[in-house]
Amino acid sequence: GQPLVFDFSYESNMSRREIENTVSQLLEVEGWNRRAIDPFHLHFCNLQPDGPYHQELIKRYSAEVWDRLLVTNTERHYVELFPKEQLVYLTADSPNVLHSFDHSKIYIIGALVDRSIQPGLSLANAKRLKLATARLPLDEFLHWEIGAKNLTLDQMIRIMLSIKMTGKWEEALTFVPERKHDGLHQQQTKPLRTNTTTRGFTS
Ligand code: SAM
Repeated sequence: GQPLVFDFSYESNMSRREIENTVSQLLEVEGWNRRAIDPFHLHFCNLQPDGPYHQELIKRYSAEVWDRLLVTNTERHYVELFPKEQLVYLTADSPNVLHSFDHSKIYIIGALVDRSIQPGLSLANAKRLKLATARLPLDEFLHWEIGAKNLTLDQMIRIMLSIKMTGKWEEALTFVPERKHDGLHQQQTKPLRTNTTTRGFTS
């Protein structure tokens, strides 16, 4: 299957509590992916052995279940595992919009939660590594109320599984919770052109 990377390089940016939340979301991620018709090959990269993420993962899964998961866990960096040209870092702060899903790309998602909102953290990381970046086309498809456009990890996997299968953002973005936005944009129906030019009466 197509690889999908989760980047575990944010240990020092999170509290214990935030790491626990991240791991809870990752258990959901693994579950949605496992049940999908066409799952991704998940790669958990930059996972430090016995580091806080790893300890929390082991605590939540029994060691034997953990070993049987269809997830590749590695302390290696994704830039060592995959060609750089293939990598695209997904981040809400990217100036680029992900217009269409590319089956030959390897998308990266930051394994972090955003309680103490740290804007631009994953964008800065991607820039430092000189990787391509993209944000989901949320503004293009959804009516937003004011608020953060950062989605949770379980929302991200459901969107990515859906766009991979259907190629349709209208379907994939139904996994954005509705309280975050105000509905999908209506299909733009162009009003029939009526001739509004005022003409002088002809007598
Ligand atoms: N402030 C954090 C940051 O710097 O990325 C937000 C983390 S967000 C809760 C978790 C991850 O989900 C992000 O690192 C990103 O990979 C992905 N993500 C969330 N919303 C996204 C969006 N609108 N577009 C692209 N990726 C998004």
